[in-house]
Amino acid sequence: MSVDIDCVVVGAGVVGLAIAREMALAGHEVLVIEAGAAIGIGTSSRNSEVIHAGIYYPPGSLKARLCVEGRQALYAYCDSHGVNTRRTGKLIVANTDAQVGQLQFLLKRGHENGVDDLRLLDRNQAITLEPALECIAALYSPSTGIVDAHGLMLALQGDAETAGTSIALHAPLLGARATADGFLLHVGGDAPMALSCRRLINAAGLHAPALARRIDGLSSDAVPRGYLCKGSYFSVSGRVPFTHLVYPAPEADGLGVHMTLDLGGQARFGPDTEWVETEDYQVNPARADSFYSAIRSYWPDLPNGSLQPGYSGIRPKISAPGEPARDFMISSQREHDVPGLINLFGIESPGLTSCLAIAQYVRELIKRRHA
Ligand SMILES: Cc1cc2nc3c(=O)[nH]c(=O)nc-3n(C[C@H](O)[C@H](O)[C@H](O)COP(=O)(O)OP(=O)(O)OC[C@H]3O[C@@H](n4cnc5c(N)ncnc54)[C@H](O)[C@@H]3O)c2cc1C
Repeated sequence: MSVDIDCVVVGAGVVGLAIAREMALAGHEVLVIEAGAAIGIGTSSRNSEVIHAGIYYPPGSLKARLCVEGRQALYAYCDSHGVNTRRTGKLIVANTDAQVGQLQFLLKRGHENGVDDLRLLDRNQAITLEPALECIAALYSPSTGIVDAHGLMLALQGDAETAGTSIALHAPLLGARATADGFLLHVGGDAPMALSCRRLINAAGLHAPALARRIDGLSSDAVPRGYLCKGSYFSVSGRVPFTHLVYPAPEADGLGVHMTLDLGGQARFGPDTEWVETEDYQVNPARADSFYSAIRSYWPDLPNGSLQPGYSGIRPKISAPGEPARDFMISSQREHDVPGLINLFGIESPGLTSCLAIAQYVRELIKRRHA
């Protein structure tokens, strides 16, 4: 088989674009194929745009390591590329003694993960920072911030293209076959084509497990089952009296209904958690009821009738409802025995924060010839 392209990246979300950039800067010839009509229209544009510090994740996990490395890399990258960020800082609040215990646990976990600027605040210290806040204690994370996710993706795209990457839109990968020296790809869409490549990087987000099942030569044992966990957001009319991001103590399926700010200073609340079977992004206005009660646990003055349905995103889970969250699963030949193939599964939060570190990790895997 003649090898037409060195490296094909499937998916032009923030992770696929960061990988394309990294690979192109390392001298590889890269083609990104994206099913949609534009870059970044999947989960990468349906999230909280928070640059996470790296507090929540089990020490030693990829999520912990790539979030801490990724956060530092992301602030530096955005600074040097004119992408808007703001180090808003974040307060995780406790309203019960049990939640104070959770904050102490998170403080310790954050330290273990290398997040060394966390501070546990008593009520007075917390309301000095945020007078409208209701809490008995709070964990303060000064290095948490927000980023313009779309601006970030445009910058990654620009770098990748300058380094020679091509991006094909309306180009869904329908299936692939592993061959002796790479992959034969069957691409659909506006201009259906067959092409061959030496390395194949599956960064298809929510669709990564389904796509991996369509790679002939990859054992189905190497592909986790994907689950969809929707998170809806509500916006609030008017300004909120907060300048930091405010999070409740985390819940089993997510971080709880938190308050984040966009770069214009407008607040949004969410995401909640709803396990779904299909990719449907409608926000059900009836979910506002549970938002009012969740938000009033830390902001009792939230006015009646102020919440409006906003948008939603879907977490690409690889853990079933009720199971503990799984780590990012970035599998290469070492795991699945197919040379040249990297699958990225379960790239949920903090995937945006981690994108540059994930890209470096993938390049290292390829350099070490495990891929
Ligand atoms: C509600 C929510 C809130 C979040 N908040 C945060 C946060 O505040 N901070 C943070 O760090 N992370 C956050 N995340 C996580 C973050 O958004 C994701 O980890 C990240 O966007 C994943 O990027 P991706 O490129 O892997 O996936 P995506 O952005 O989904 O990109 C995948 C792309 O692949 C394309 N594709 C799929 N199948 C094919 C195919 N067969 N052929 C070609 N193309 C295909 C899709 O069209 C899509 O464009 C959040 C996630 C959710 C759901």
